[in-house]
Amino acid sequence: YSAKKHRSHIQFYSADMQQEAERKIKFINNLRHAMGLRQFSLAYQGIVDLDTGHVIAAEALLRWQKDEHTLLDARDFLPQLEETGMIVKVGQWVLEQACRQAAKWRETSGKPLNISVNISPLQLEHPDFVDMVSHALAKANLPAESLILEITESTLLRQPLQAKGVLVQLREMGVHIAIDDFGTGLSSLSRLGSLPIDSLKIDAEFAQQLGDPQGQKLFAAVVQLARALDIIYIAEGVESHEQQSLLQTMGGGYGQGYLFGEPMDAGAFSSRFLHS
Ligand code: C2E
Ligand code: MG
Ligand code: MG
Ligand code: MG
Repeated sequence: YSAKKHRSHIQFYSADMQQEAERKIKFINNLRHAMGLRQFSLAYQGIVDLDTGHVIAAEALLRWQKDEHTLLDARDFLPQLEETGMIVKVGQWVLEQACRQAAKWRETSGKPLNISVNISPLQLEHPDFVDMVSHALAKANLPAESLILEITESTLLRQPLQAKGVLVQLREMGVHIAIDDFGTGLSSLSRLGSLPIDSLKIDAEFAQQLGDPQGQKLFAAVVQLARALDIIYIAEGVESHEQQSLLQTMGGGYGQGYLFGEPMDAGAFSSRFLHS
């Protein structure tokens, strides 16, 4: 496989493909510099008790100020952070920043707010992950019980035994575990009972189907499942009052979505949820 061969292969690229490839390389190069340039920030979205309306937690969501005019959501650059392995370092920054913010909020508001942080497969599989979590907690002086780690079903399925071992250690520290986007990868259902899980975050796709009777039955079934396993459920993507009242009839749950508040910066979150 010679350089010459490689060049001739490149010639089959259309101008469009070439441009696309160059754009991608440039995007990733910019992403590599984002941390040093302090372009990352966290947005916070409230998780509320559907019965009382009280906020119980904030989910930290990563944002990238790519340039003066462009603030990108996590979904726009997370794949690139994962592909390149940068997510381990960035994820640790997220964890530390979120823990610090939560500790500050708990102190200034006196409210028992929890903080929920998304964890990528590469982080969970990192040999030092448990130490990294306890480091973040210690640095922020945040009780482990206030931290929720959100892990998707597909992450748990990659290395189920290893993942379970890590979750057990985190649980022993007092950290809470949530399954994120629950219901989008049903294959782990059989394992659910044996994992140390505190909450299920029911994927937004389920809330979107609450408008029809089949969708309501499906949602009720997932709620039953959570109850049977004695774990909390959180409906993701709650956008309308109709969805909210349907969820309230099922009782005992929590919700998150644009209806209660979009992800917002720390200052806005604090005035909206902690000092109102
Ligand atoms: P997620 O954890 O399921 O987060 C919810 C996503 O849905 C967020 O998108 C949020 O802005 C959006 N959302 C919130 N409420 C509503 C609603 O009512 N309707 C609709 N349609 N969407 C809503 P975002 O911020 O782009 O994040 C996408 C995903 O990226 C997250 O999904 C999470 O898996 C991941 N992510 C975000 N921040 C981090 C991070 O710091 N580390 C890691 N590893 N992953 C992250
Ligand atoms: Mg999440
Ligand atoms: Mg989710
Ligand atoms: Mg999601």
